Amino acid sequence: MSHAPFFEQVNVHFERAAEFTGHPRGLLRQIKTCNQVFHTTFPLRRDDGSIESVEGWRAVHSSHKLPTKGGIRFTMRASEDEVMALAALMTYKCAIVDVPFGGAKGAVKIDPRNYSEAEIERLTRRYTFELYQKQFIGPGIDVPAPDYGTGAREMAWIADTYEAMAHELDAIGCVTGKPLAQGGIRGRVEATGRGVYFGIREACDVAEDMRRLGLEPGLDGKRVVVQGLGNVGYHAAKFLQEGGATIVGITEFEGAIHAPGGIDVDKLLEHRQDSGSILDFPGATNLAAREEGLELDCDILVPAALENQIHAENAGRIQARIIGEAANGPVTAEADALLRDRGVMIIPDAFLNAGGVTVSYFEWVKNLSHLRFGRLGRRFDMRMRTTLLNTVEEHVGEPFPPGTIESVAQGAQEEDLVNSGLEDTIIEAFHEVRDIRMQHDDRMDLRTAAFVCAIDKVALTYSERGIFP
Ligand code: NAD
Repeated sequence: MSHAPFFEQVNVHFERAAEFTGHPRGLLRQIKTCNQVFHTTFPLRRDDGSIESVEGWRAVHSSHKLPTKGGIRFTMRASEDEVMALAALMTYKCAIVDVPFGGAKGAVKIDPRNYSEAEIERLTRRYTFELYQKQFIGPGIDVPAPDYGTGAREMAWIADTYEAMAHELDAIGCVTGKPLAQGGIRGRVEATGRGVYFGIREACDVAEDMRRLGLEPGLDGKRVVVQGLGNVGYHAAKFLQEGGATIVGITEFEGAIHAPGGIDVDKLLEHRQDSGSILDFPGATNLAAREEGLELDCDILVPAALENQIHAENAGRIQARIIGEAANGPVTAEADALLRDRGVMIIPDAFLNAGGVTVSYFEWVKNLSHLRFGRLGRRFDMRMRTTLLNTVEEHVGEPFPPGTIESVAQGAQEEDLVNSGLEDTIIEAFHEVRDIRMQHDDRMDLRTAAFVCAIDKVALTYSERGIFP
């Protein structure tokens, strides 16, 4: 089914929210518009010696703060419209979670499954070179990250290529989502999914909102369906399951499965790795078509694949009371209106999947400081706490139960700090967005509130810094 251009859809949400702000029209137009789009076509030598033309883009939606930030996709669906829309979402996302970046997004139009590792390396390096030539990459300019079809491997190639050309002290901060040994940070791989979990958990904990939806407060026992078992979907499903929810359905490229009693996410991943498919998973029923997975009876639907998955045609058949947008733009603007009318709670992408960029921000800060978080203070903290607890023991005249001192005194490791920073960011942002919604009673949904939050923050930057020159 055909949909309105993605960027246009993002702007429908923008305009709805803009009505609630008092900012001048000219400023709103400047915030909404995409500042720059770089389009390139470069040659790739295939392993068989043939030459192929590959298309790539990098859109910088807003440079109101630098560097700009946003992932790089490898997909055949890539287009100028898509990168502009995704770059816009990055601007709003960074603003909502107070990550001091502007918004950008990149894409290369390939299906990675059709290329060898060596070919993907060559095209990743060439794309990086193209970005470097036109100043669309750099630790203080624009910092890519993984997205659909890319991961730590590609980020390492990008960092290496940039470093080879740029001879800068901070070159390693030109990209995030790198492997740990190459300047990456613990917790980045699972950050987006973990953030999705924190956001959904927080929403479910508000008793008043759950009552309105006819649901009990809390995540415990909530029935969840996840679309896409990739980086974001797998981790979101795993953390939701660990948090007490029951994963009753999973839908992937090859099909969908249903198990009202629950699906063990790790076992399913193993099954998929062994058999190449999620189908025929013991204890689950195969559905006739993957789209049917979205329509299963459940409390929470988590689309974590691509945009435009819930649209005007299937919106009426969605049974979930809560949609947690782990992917970017999974609900079309038309479907959004239909679902809002039905009182479905949509936890919007620009807030819910911001865990990735939040931890990317921590990685970038780590890269610029050239120091692992926790390295300086941990041992000192451990000693101080142990001394304190030993003193308490002496005064009370009774020892703590075995293991207590070790567990309480243990200082924070990098991963503890990253996860703590992520949790704090998502919780704070959720309540900031919800408070905006509450100020407008029933007239405002969470997405509109999230956009109001973002627009106000970007507008504040323009008003406090002024307009150059
Ligand atoms: P990924 O490539 O790791 O996983 C995507 C999965 O979706 C794949 O397993 C793919 O087979 C599956 N899929 C594709 N089409 C499908 C369909 N029609 N039905 C069911 N499954 C389908 O990608 P990812 O990094 O997990 O990204 C997923 C979404 O999350 C994208 O919208 C991306 O922009 C967004 N996102 C990713 C990050 C990140 O840190 N990776 C951060 C924020 C947002």
